[in-house]
This record gives sequence, C-alpha cells and structure tokens, in this order.
Amino acid sequence: HGNFAHPLCVALEVAGPGAALPLASGRGDDWFESDGQMTKRPVRALTLSALAPRLGEHLWDIGGGSGSISIEWLLSHPSLSATAIESRADRADRSRGNASRLGVDRLQVVTGAAPQALDGLQAPDVVFVGGGLDAALLGWLEARLAPGTRLVANAVTLETEALLLAAQGRRGGDLLRIELATSAPLGPRRGWTPSRPVVQWSVTL
Ligand code: SAH
Repeated sequence: HGNFAHPLCVALEVAGPGAALPLASGRGDDWFESDGQMTKRPVRALTLSALAPRLGEHLWDIGGGSGSISIEWLLSHPSLSATAIESRADRADRSRGNASRLGVDRLQVVTGAAPQALDGLQAPDVVFVGGGLDAALLGWLEARLAPGTRLVANAVTLETEALLLAAQGRRGGDLLRIELATSAPLGPRRGWTPSRPVVQWSVTL
C-alpha cells in the first residue's frame, strides 16, 4: 500500500467505527478542519472534476487554505502528487494536519506567497488557483508554465472575475459560473439561501 491509506482505515481513524470516507470527490466539509475559509463541498466537487486528474500527475494548489482541494486530488489515486502553496502559516499547518489525518501525508505544503513561492518547485501538470489571483500571478503562470499545463482558477470577487473574463478572451478555455442555493428555514416555512457565485476558468495553456 505504500503511504496510501485505504479509505476504510482512514474512516476508522478519523471518525470511529461507522463513518466511512466516501470514494468520490466532494466529500463532506466536516472531513476537513478549517477556519471557515474553505471551498465548500459542491464547488469542490466541480473543481476536482475540472482538474480532471490523470495517472501520475502533479498538482499545484495555489492558495491551498485547508488543503481540501489537494487532499481530494491525492485521494483520487495513489500515483498522484501535490504541492499546496499557502501564504498564512496557520492555514498551512492546518492543511498538513488534514492531510495526515485523511491518509495523504504525501501532500507537500509550502508556506509562502505566490508567485514568489513558486520558484524552484517541481513543474506541475495541473495548477489550481483558489486564492491570490491577480495580474502579477496570472502573468507569472502564463510566462512560466509549460505549454500543455492545465489551469483551473476560481473567482469569487468581481476583481478576480474580471481578470478571468479577460484571460478567457485572450486565451480561450471554458468559463463556468456556479450559482447554488441550499434550503433553510424561512419563518415557519423554508426558502432558498443563495451562495455567492463562483466563476471558474479552465484552460490548457
Ligand atoms: N481551496 C481552499 C480555500 C482557498 S481560500 C480550501 O478549500 O481550503 C484562499 C486562500 O488563498 C487563503 O487561505 C489565503 O490565505 C490564500 N492566499 C491568498 N493569496 C495568496 C498568495 N498570493 N499565495 C498563496 N496563498 C494565498
């Protein structure tokens, strides 16, 4: 097995007998410790689908936060590897904890701000940008990543969204706007509580 933990063993360690770690990406948010800054389950599932891991690929998870994206990448197959880049030391530490608790302590976590922190890292096959995307970072990625590298970026702010709309105009790729709502009590009845829209750009460089 190497350092790949069987999901059943992981579940027993994490949650005691009875809880099993699901096999598909988009696992429940409560499998990950976070300070609230985390890509939530439905968007995470769509993001892993867009990242579309293939055998043996290496991921950069820029703005790794809780590590949930790179952890689900690694859980997809034992041949996969990942580096999470996170500027906040407390979040970097938490993501290391999450990774080892979920059986993927092969996650490499770099504490530092992209793009400076990217220098010297093993070249990726796939890059996810979940935080810190600005013109400087996008320029660095376009200049330095090898042609054929797949890039997926999620935007929540209008400023980042504008950057992605312009980038897709220049370079092509797909834009997906994710607008979801969950049911919640509304007085004595129920209503839809909308989440902020997320704009996702996927492109092969
Ligand atoms: N996908 C993550 C959540 C990302 S939130 C998860 O599921 O947990 C965005 C993160 O990007 C934050 O943790 C923030 O600290 C980090 N960040 C912002 N700018 C950054 C930069 N330039 N380099 C690295 N990390 C950055």
